[in-house]
Amino acid sequence: MGRKGLFIDYEFCTGCHTCEVACKQENSYPAGLWGIKVNEIVLESLDKVEINYLPFPTELCNLCANRTVNGERPSCVKHCQADCMKYGELTELVKEMENKPKTVLFAPK
Ligand code: SF4
Ligand code: SF4
Repeated sequence: MGRKGLFIDYEFCTGCHTCEVACKQENSYPAGLWGIKVNEIVLESLDKVEINYLPFPTELCNLCANRTVNGERPSCVKHCQADCMKYGELTELVKEMENKPKTVLFAPK
């Protein structure tokens, strides 16, 4: 089996923070600890303001090993209502990026 990762299509991320909450509940993290954090990035130019939301897994993310070992999706992926997160083999997730303008891959060791 190849290396696994998280694919995030942030073009469609609404910044709802559900992934943060789902991760926190899955891992019972106390206040102040997060497995993923949603960042708001504001880009200003002369005639417009663009706001992007970019979820960023922290060093605590273990790709929900306790779930994926049983064939379940990571909690953040399962609960993202915009369906903009995927879990899988990096080689497959890279192919998803080819035609998508705003995507990132997260691949912990
Ligand atoms: S994969 Fe699991 S541990 Fe990692 S951010 Fe998502 S819910 Fe949290
Ligand atoms: S749950 Fe999905 S749409 Fe909501 S902030 Fe996280 S990645 Fe974005």
